[in-house]
Amino acid sequence: MNDQPDVLVLGAGPAGIGAALAATELGLRTAILDRAPDGGGQVYRSSLTLPQPGYKSAEKGIRLRQALAASSAKVFFDCRVWSVRRDFRVDGIDPEGKKTWKPKSIIAAIGTTERVIPFSGWTTPGVYGHAATTILLKSQSILPGNNSVVAGSGPLLAAVAYGIIAGGGNVAAIIDIAGRGEWLASIPALLSRSEDLRRGLKWIREIRRAKIPILYRHSVLAVNPREDGLEVIAQPVDSNGQCIVSGQTQTITADSLSIGNGLTPSTELTRLLGAEHVFVAEAGGWIPSLDSRQRTTISGLYAAGDGAGITGADAALTEGKIAGYTVALDMNRIDASEHERLISPLIARLMKVSRAGRRMAQMMAPRPGQISDIKPETVVCRCEDITRQEIDAAIDNGASDINQLKSWTRCGMGPCQGRTCGDVVASIVAARCGGREKVGCWSPRIPLTALSMDELTGDFDYDDIPIPRAAPL
Ligand SMILES: Cc1cc2nc3c(=O)[nH]c(=O)nc-3n(C[C@H](O)[C@H](O)[C@H](O)COP(=O)(O)OP(=O)(O)OC[C@H]3O[C@@H](n4cnc5c(N)ncnc54)[C@H](O)[C@@H]3O)c2cc1C
Repeated sequence: MNDQPDVLVLGAGPAGIGAALAATELGLRTAILDRAPDGGGQVYRSSLTLPQPGYKSAEKGIRLRQALAASSAKVFFDCRVWSVRRDFRVDGIDPEGKKTWKPKSIIAAIGTTERVIPFSGWTTPGVYGHAATTILLKSQSILPGNNSVVAGSGPLLAAVAYGIIAGGGNVAAIIDIAGRGEWLASIPALLSRSEDLRRGLKWIREIRRAKIPILYRHSVLAVNPREDGLEVIAQPVDSNGQCIVSGQTQTITADSLSIGNGLTPSTELTRLLGAEHVFVAEAGGWIPSLDSRQRTTISGLYAAGDGAGITGADAALTEGKIAGYTVALDMNRIDASEHERLISPLIARLMKVSRAGRRMAQMMAPRPGQISDIKPETVVCRCEDITRQEIDAAIDNGASDINQLKSWTRCGMGPCQGRTCGDVVASIVAARCGGREKVGCWSPRIPLTALSMDELTGDFDYDDIPIPRAAPL
C-alpha cells in the first residue's frame, strides 16, 4: 500500500484518459484502470483485428491511447473494480490477481449502461444491444448476422446500420421510434459538432445507397425464433412511443436484431461512495450532483463523462480534463488563477459540444408509451426472470419504491445487479407511484462486477482450511 497514487482514475474511456492526461501534466502521481484490454472506452474501443470496418473514430482512439502511453500515468487494463469504500479503498481484479489502492482522490469515469425496453422475445438468441453489436464490429470485426434488423432510437441506429454495411453485412430494415421531423429538428443542435454532423450525414448517405427500408415511428412488437433465423414484427407508434392499435404491423425476416433505447449514466461507484445524486431525465437518469468543476459532494471525489450525464465523447474528454486540473487545484499543485487559465477554454468547449450531446440523449430517451406498452407476460428482469405482471402485482400490494420492489420480487438481484433492467423497472414503478425522483434507484451493492469466488479468495486446497475443534459440551 506504499507508493499510492495522488489520484486514481476509474475508467479509461475519453473522460478517464482526459483526466489522467491533465493530472499527469500537472505532476500528480496518477493511476488509471479499466476492465477493457486497452483504453478508449465505448466509442474509441481498440480493435483486435485491424482495420475496424468504416469507423473513423478509430484514429482518435489511437491518438488518445498514444498520449496516455506517453504520459507518466500508471495503467492497469483488464482490471475490474469490484469494490470501493468510503475511506477511498478501491479493490480490483486483474489477470495477476487482486489489487488494492488507497488514493487521495478518485475520478469516476465509468461511462454508461445501455437501455433496452423489453418486448416479447427480447431474450431470444440473435437479439443484441447496440453496445454489444458495436463491440463485435469495432473490436473483433464480426457481424451480428448476415441479414440484420437495426431498431430503437437515437444516433446509434445509423451508426450501427452503417457499421454493419461497412463490414459487408446486409441490413434488412431500420425500425426508428422517432419521426423524420424530429431528426430535422436536431440539425441546429448538431451544428455545434460539425464533424459528427458530417459523419452522421455520411452514414445516412450510405444507408440510402444500400436502399435499406427505414420504418419511422415504429417499434419492435415481438421477435419470434424461426428455424432459419428470426421474425421481427414492427408496429406503428405515435409520438409518445405508444402502439397505434389500428396500425398495420410488418414482419421482417432476419438472422439478428440489434436494438437499443438510449443510455443511462453508470453511477454505481459514486453512489457507493455516498455522493449526492439527482435525477435529470435529459442527462439519461440519475447523475451525481456536481459543481461546475466536476467535484461531487464528497471531498476528493470527482466525476466526468457519461457517468456524470450523457453528453457524448467530445464532452466526456473535456470534462475529464477539467476534473484532472481541478484535482491539481484541490491538492495545491496549482493556484486558482492558473486553474482558471487552464479550464476557461475547456468550459467554453464543453458548452458548445454538450448541446449536441444533450439533443442526442433526448432522441435516445425512452417515451412513456414504450413503458406502458410492455406486456404483462414479458420478462423485465432477465437475470431473475421477473415479468411485468410480477412487478405490477408488487406495486398493487404496496411496493412504492424500487428497493422495496427489489426485496419483494428479487428484481435486480441477479448477476447484472439491475444494470440492465433498473431504469425500465424504475420507469414502470414511477408511472404508478409518482415520478422517478420519488421511487429512487437501486441501492448499490458490492461486488460491482461479476467475479468468481475463486478470483476473490485465490487458489486454495480444502485440506489447508483449518477446521476449528468442536467446543466441549
Ligand atoms: C454503442 C455505443 C456507441 C456510441 N457511439 C458514439 C459515437 O459514435 N459518438 C459519440 O460521441 N458517442 C458515442 N457513444 C457515447 C459514447 O460512448 C460516450 O459519450 C463516450 O464514450 C463517453 O466516454 P466516457 O469516458 O464517459 O465513458 P466510456 O467510453 O463508456 O468509458 C468508461 C470506461 O469505464 C470502464 N468501466 C466501467 N465500469 C468499470 C469497472 N467496474 N471496472 C473497471 N472499468 C470499468 C469501461 O470498461 C469503459 O472503458 C456511444 C455509446 C454506446 C454505448
